[in-house]
Amino acid sequence: MKVVVTGGAGFIGANLCRELARRGAEVLVLDDLSTGRRANLDGLDVELRVQSVLDRDAVVYACAGADTVVHLAAVPSVTRSLMNPRHSHDVNVTGSLEVLEAACAAGAHVVLASSSSVYGRNPALPKSEEMACVPVSPYASGKLAAESYALSFQHCFDLPCTVFRFFNVFGPLQLPDHPYAAVIPTFIWSALRGQPLTVFGDGEQTRDFTFVDSVVGVLADSVLRSVSCTRPVNLAFGTRTSLNDVVALLSALLGRKLEVARRPQRAGDVRHSQASGTSLRRLFPQARPVSLEMALSRTIEWVERLVRTENEAARSSV
Ligand code: NAD
Repeated sequence: MKVVVTGGAGFIGANLCRELARRGAEVLVLDDLSTGRRANLDGLDVELRVQSVLDRDAVVYACAGADTVVHLAAVPSVTRSLMNPRHSHDVNVTGSLEVLEAACAAGAHVVLASSSSVYGRNPALPKSEEMACVPVSPYASGKLAAESYALSFQHCFDLPCTVFRFFNVFGPLQLPDHPYAAVIPTFIWSALRGQPLTVFGDGEQTRDFTFVDSVVGVLADSVLRSVSCTRPVNLAFGTRTSLNDVVALLSALLGRKLEVARRPQRAGDVRHSQASGTSLRRLFPQARPVSLEMALSRTIEWVERLVRTENEAARSSV
């Protein structure tokens, strides 16, 4: 089976490539390396083409002969979409359209990454796929547009596809040391360097944290079984954890009380996020969450390796 993974050199993408290769798929990655890293694919039997999803010829060429296209490439940040909405739109919407057209022409099945951010200002919990989406950022609007293009291609052109709404995915390969980094790797990175953990607001905000192994397990199943669904599917298990609880768990795992620096709540931050996992359980009954303790331990190991590499680089430069 030939699988094209756009954004395959990124955090979720490279974890997925490893899983697909392990399950015997022939994998081709299309990634412009804007946030992804070549090193994420080290040791994997995958072909990497360093090209953009906005390059129509490159996308058409990559998708030719593919059985499935997993579309993960994006500018994956609310903050970056606020700084440059047009670029966010170009990559996340126009880029998605390029991928859908190429996949359609190739007769391939599509798996598309959307985001829980599409629920936006709608306060109802848990977030079920039927509820109204009220996006509050250009990133969320772009994701909603891309998923609705995918479902309209399914309706109009019989494109088999599955749209997944990811929640807060975390785990190995997620970089902590950049301005748009996600909260869990950032907490661990600060803790390991003896710095206080920055918490915006009172820390009682909750998120449905999802370990990357669970996410790539479902994505790989969807690819290999060519699952097609007429509605978006939440890819999370319906457990919400507060940031204060994450800090407490990290303190327990690292064996010391972690210092917290409180900052004012950020404008636009959602208070609570929790998926309804009903559709996921129906379509992928074998999907299982990894316990938060286990997932945090695995993430700590990965960030520890990064910190060691950084220290070694600093030592060799003096
Ligand atoms: P990531 O930044 O690690 O991966 C995105 C990849 O896309 C990178 O490798 C980047 O180089 C590539 N890319 C960006 N623009 C490109 C372009 N024009 N052409 C080709 N490649 C391009 O982020 P991630 O967390 O792995 O996100 C993967 C997908 O999941 C994204 O679509 C993101 O919006 C979605 N998502 C992620 C989360 C999460 O918690 N990580 C939550 C919701 C949705």
